[in-house]
Amino acid sequence: MERARNSRRGDIDMISSLPDCLIHIIMSFLTAQEAIQTCVLSKRWKNLWATLPFLDFDLHKFKYHTELEEGVPKRNQVDMFIGFVSTALLLRKPFDLHKFCVSGLKVSHFDMMRSWILYALKHNLQVLNIDLMQECPMPPNVFNCASLVDASVAYSLKSLQNIEVINLPCLRRLSLKGAGTHITQDFVDKLFYGCPVLEFLNLEYCYRDFSSINSQSLKYLNSRTICSCRETKKRMELINTPNLLSFRDNICPYLGGQHMPLNMPSLTSASICMEKCHYNWPHKNKSSILMGLLNVQNLELSGFEIKAFLEAELSHCPEFSNAKDLSVDGLCLSCHFYRLAAFLNHFPNLEKLLLYYRGCSCKLRVPAKKTIKLAPFEGKRLRTVEVKFSKSSKYFPQVVKNLQDYTKNSRAQINMTGLSY
Ligand SMILES: [Zn+2]
Ligand SMILES: [Zn+2]
Repeated sequence: MERARNSRRGDIDMISSLPDCLIHIIMSFLTAQEAIQTCVLSKRWKNLWATLPFLDFDLHKFKYHTELEEGVPKRNQVDMFIGFVSTALLLRKPFDLHKFCVSGLKVSHFDMMRSWILYALKHNLQVLNIDLMQECPMPPNVFNCASLVDASVAYSLKSLQNIEVINLPCLRRLSLKGAGTHITQDFVDKLFYGCPVLEFLNLEYCYRDFSSINSQSLKYLNSRTICSCRETKKRMELINTPNLLSFRDNICPYLGGQHMPLNMPSLTSASICMEKCHYNWPHKNKSSILMGLLNVQNLELSGFEIKAFLEAELSHCPEFSNAKDLSVDGLCLSCHFYRLAAFLNHFPNLEKLLLYYRGCSCKLRVPAKKTIKLAPFEGKRLRTVEVKFSKSSKYFPQVVKNLQDYTKNSRAQINMTGLSY
């Protein structure tokens, strides 16, 4: 009797018997096309998609009938995709749309895309994700959406300069990613004024055309932008973010060669790339970037300019007494091991050190054959030294020997792994 009941229960479609809101959560893992195709499953599923609050339209994942596929030029696939999105939004019931994603289209389809975005903005939108194939303008309404919590736009935007008012009272996360986007001071000021709870800001691959950031709410800042200092002659004057926890930036000699106040007392994690920008500025003045990173627990330094940066900064480098993890990439360890050792002396509580050695390409090569005489590292907590090296570097055995000698007083284990590039 019990077995019979169980087998009968096995016949029941468990998912169909769930309430709509739970089915919608399951459907949120599907593309919009897959979600809409569930309408053929049964009567129960016929209209479930039409109230679905999550829609993800991706041209690259868009599949159409295989019989049509042969001989159909790609343009038709784009046309079919556009027709599919427009029809879906037309037939959709007027319920909230919490998440709207569209990716793969070009500027020539922008008018269509703008009408979709406007539809989404009118339906209590919380998450907007647009991934474009080309430089496009941004519908200004996006910057005046009271419900928006998370907005992410890639590849690039043309018209951020023309945004007059930004009013996003609920926005917590904003990602603007793309080579054509100029981030001006005017935009940055309006953004922080109009987004009082913004916590996460990503400006990756945008042009840096601003000189200060002031925000009480920001916790995560990625300003690894494309430096346009040569054109704009704008230096970074201030980053005042008292609640920032994580900071990623790239600093060229022009930006770094000056007093650049960083007010980030809460910072726990920083990743700074010292790089050459479009213009080869000489390293001249001392900056105060490391002073601003005083409290970090994790620090990553990288970039071609790291040697010149450390030369300029070491004399007034602070002690990083909270730092447990340090990663250094870009310093030639065969020619400039002294420089690394002098830097490490500022990390008395270091537990883990990660070093990259990509071979020597120094103009003035310092012979690395002889053992370097250095006072050993005094940090008692160092447990792991990981060295990632390129296999072609012939000075590598000497680098390891120097590293073993230098860390002999700690009980650190030295691990080595080859880099594949
Ligand atoms: Zn620059
Ligand atoms: Zn070298």
